[in-house]
Amino acid sequence: MPAAMSDKFQVAVLAGDGIGPEVMAEALRVLGVVTQKFSISIQYAACHVGGAAIDADGKALPEATLKACEAADAILFGSVGGPKWESLPANEQPERAALLPLRKHFSLFANLRPGVCLPELVHASPLHPKIVEGGFDVLCVRELTGGLYFGEPKYTKQEGGESFAVDTMIYWESEIRRIARVAFEAARTRGKKVTSIDKANVLQNGLLWRRIVTETAADFPDVVLNHLYVDNAAMQLVRNPKQFDVIVAENMFGDILSDELAMITGSLGMLPSASLGEATGGARRFGMYEPSGGTAPDIAGQGIANPIAQILSAAMMLRYSLGREDAAGAIEAAVRKVIASGLRTGDIWTEGTTKVGTAAMGEAIAKAI
Ligand code: NAD
Repeated sequence: MPAAMSDKFQVAVLAGDGIGPEVMAEALRVLGVVTQKFSISIQYAACHVGGAAIDADGKALPEATLKACEAADAILFGSVGGPKWESLPANEQPERAALLPLRKHFSLFANLRPGVCLPELVHASPLHPKIVEGGFDVLCVRELTGGLYFGEPKYTKQEGGESFAVDTMIYWESEIRRIARVAFEAARTRGKKVTSIDKANVLQNGLLWRRIVTETAADFPDVVLNHLYVDNAAMQLVRNPKQFDVIVAENMFGDILSDELAMITGSLGMLPSASLGEATGGARRFGMYEPSGGTAPDIAGQGIANPIAQILSAAMMLRYSLGREDAAGAIEAAVRKVIASGLRTGDIWTEGTTKVGTAAMGEAIAKAI
């Protein structure tokens, strides 16, 4: 991956399956406008991935695609999978054979999932209107490559006539430090507050996590740090999500809390995500950017999918991999403006607002920049 010294970048575009290509087209449309406005030069390499790559090249992550990703500053990813490929052996299926190897190949250790509920869309949240009034904006930073999901030993055995299973939770200081840094760096571009999640009252891992996050905070005196036990965090998210800015958690706690956060926004088609690797220059990191949702086979090909998650994924890419906060902020402001103007795709439509399709939504956001 090239160390981007100027504002000339390379991006691998992996649209994938289902609604992937439809929503990707709108993200590229918006990128076209924003890059022109902010004098950013991006060269795109469009590649097959997922089911589309199985059909065209016989495997979900072809060599050519991986090479294009290696040559890029970032990967803009759609989503992969669908009924057509569900009967393949598990390790050949699109998600397992494309997404997971990409995360592993590029050591993408930090998963960022914003949970944004815009004031105009609070009705979609399953929480009480009094709790979400005015909306909320929380960023969940999840450690993605360590902890209980990957620790060794990991096995199931039989003893004394019954089975038992062992998983190992292990974190090294360096793993905690680097994910904490991602959270503090992100907080600097937003509300300047980090809430670190652990279970320090029970787990050795929790004690180490708390100590290392606290040490790391010393490098970020402009960011406020506090700590919460994970069980309390799960309750606080539904009691008062507005109290949070950035949440940072180890792999399993982050897995659960980021889904809880997505659910309380109520709008899956609006939620982007980023998976980041090591820094490539300053605060820039190589990353893969994709919507939180899947390929939505139930609505694919109809031109009605919400492209906003994909468009906001492009904004995250500008912020974290290309170091262009100005252009990222412009996309996010354009999305807010278009939602405020009353345009809605079917998934977020309510009485009194104007229903539009994928292309019309993308066009309106591009125009609003
Ligand atoms: P899904 O997210 O695709 O769909 C769930 C529901 O949300 C559907 O009703 C869908 O229409 C709706 N939805 C999702 N995104 C939307 C959007 N942008 N606009 C409007 N509505 C939207 O989840 P699923 O049904 O569990 O999975 C479908 C396929 O996607 C499966 O093959 C699954 O393996 C795959 N998948 C891929 C990824 C990925 O590539 N990262 C993630 C999740 C699921």
